[in-house]
Amino acid sequence: MNKLIALLGALSSLFGLNAAALAGEYPTDKAVVMVVPFAAGGPTDKVARELGVVMTKHLKQIIVVDNTVGAGGTIGARKVVQAPKDGYTILLHHIGMSTSPALYRNLGFDPMNDYEFIGEVADVPMLLLSTKSLTAKDFKELLPYIKANHDKLSLANAGIGSASHLCGLLFMSTIQADFTTVPYKGTAPALTDLMGGQVQLMCDQTTNVAGQVRSKAIKAYGATSLSRLTAFKDIPTLDEQGLKGFEVKIWHAMYAPKGTPKPVVDKLVAALQASVQDASFRAKMAELGAEVATPQRATPDSARALVQSEINKWTPIIKKAGVYAD
Ligand code: ASP
Repeated sequence: MNKLIALLGALSSLFGLNAAALAGEYPTDKAVVMVVPFAAGGPTDKVARELGVVMTKHLKQIIVVDNTVGAGGTIGARKVVQAPKDGYTILLHHIGMSTSPALYRNLGFDPMNDYEFIGEVADVPMLLLSTKSLTAKDFKELLPYIKANHDKLSLANAGIGSASHLCGLLFMSTIQADFTTVPYKGTAPALTDLMGGQVQLMCDQTTNVAGQVRSKAIKAYGATSLSRLTAFKDIPTLDEQGLKGFEVKIWHAMYAPKGTPKPVVDKLVAALQASVQDASFRAKMAELGAEVATPQRATPDSARALVQSEINKWTPIIKKAGVYAD
């Protein structure tokens, strides 16, 4: 066995792989880094941290979150492609994985070919939000107000390709009004400014804003789902308030760099499978308005199919909108 490990060690230095991982001993005594491509305290970060706690239990190794932020999540996503392929660096990302190829001219990675897919994690709905001082009682009052004042209002987002950016684009084109958009490194810092009134409008996942909406620190004018959210039954959808068919669904999935050995990927998949069935994780996510993936969806095949179908769906929409970044 020792000779085998030594041989694998020699091979590993040749191919940049981890000997223990190849020998099926993953994870050893090294922490697993889960890269989150948005700011700490925000919605993607919250899903990652809750998942990290429960997955640590099932993987039997500590998972630590690394927030590598900027450029709508593409910097963190690229970091994982370039990381050692040993299972000690994984990525927790959202819909941006499927929208960034159409938005960035120099993305520097290919979502379909540069990752091992681990599985889907959760779906998180969005809300259209405003700073508290906007006087409109409901969306019916908000709409004429923001149309008349669009040149004085700004719309926060988490950078090109972020969920808040996509939702904002769709909102502006649906109501045919333009706002100044203000990019942040995630919607955690954007939320601080929304509460402070420095920006007036934002779309965000419920996982970031559930507490502030319930305590009325900000206003929620509508959900971006086609039916009302279980956790926010009192908030009407934008669809039912006149924006027919308005829908933005945010999903999260997990990845490892392409070339991560299959036994390692299998262990990550098994830990994710156990985590999505974990009652404490499901309860925490439900409280934040999120729906945890079924075990059938927390699989590499399901995540791969989702990323591809979302690329197919969003690419023509983005091209038509003529939005891009370098
Ligand atoms: N909610 C952000 C987005 O708009 C991401 C984040 O901060 O987690 O994509």
